[in-house]
Amino acid sequence: MRAVGLHADVIVATSRVYQTACTLVRSEGEAFCIDSPVLPDELEILPAVAEQAGFTVVGLLSTHADWDHLLGRYAFPEAPLGCAETTAARLVSRPGEAQRRLREFDEQFYVERPAPLSLPGAQRLPVPGRVEVGARELELQPADGHTEDGMAIWIPWARVLVAGDYLSPVEIPVLSEGGSAAAYLATLARLEPLVADADHVVAGHGGPIDAMRAAAILREDRAYVEALAEQGDAAKLPLARRSAEQRRIHADNARRV
Ligand SMILES: [Zn+2]
Repeated sequence: MRAVGLHADVIVATSRVYQTACTLVRSEGEAFCIDSPVLPDELEILPAVAEQAGFTVVGLLSTHADWDHLLGRYAFPEAPLGCAETTAARLVSRPGEAQRRLREFDEQFYVERPAPLSLPGAQRLPVPGRVEVGARELELQPADGHTEDGMAIWIPWARVLVAGDYLSPVEIPVLSEGGSAAAYLATLARLEPLVADADHVVAGHGGPIDAMRAAAILREDRAYVEALAEQGDAAKLPLARRSAEQRRIHADNARRV
């Protein structure tokens, strides 16, 4: 797991699998853990990484309800989970989905966990809205389109945008079950001014990138999703994201639009 400091109050740890990004943000002796790494050893070491850097994690936030972003309880079992109302609704309406997907991943790669994933009721945060951490506030923006739920988190004093599964340097836009091209484009439009104000953007997969690169990815992703909505399978993939796995995601996207 790679961990980098983006600001005195922001650390990003990037998982060795899927490059899933986990962001620690703090103010005045309180820290939140946003999303999670995936592998057991990464989750096991995360509390020490946080503690050594002086981040006292008191709460978990998830950008959306996909299983690979929901594993923070393995690292911080006492910390309550907060998420967008849309994400809390998805956790309730599709109970056990995250646990089932985690189990499938673990079975495929022979991964052992210390315990099954426990996800007690999440606290519903109003989005758009704000949530306090220490003496500061995080700003929450709706970020649906990849899935039916989700939020992006703007850390104003650090000028860091935690985008959720958008603006990834390694993955093309993914329209999952419940996602939609129109909602995806609306989310990109909401993220655009935040990217313009940001120093760094944390993509849900691929970790931290600078704002210039994020702006370029945003333009590519908008062009791709627009083409996908109009041409389906014939849409061209972004130049740097055309591997076999990205073409497989594209074929799934084309079936869904
Ligand atoms: Zn994801």
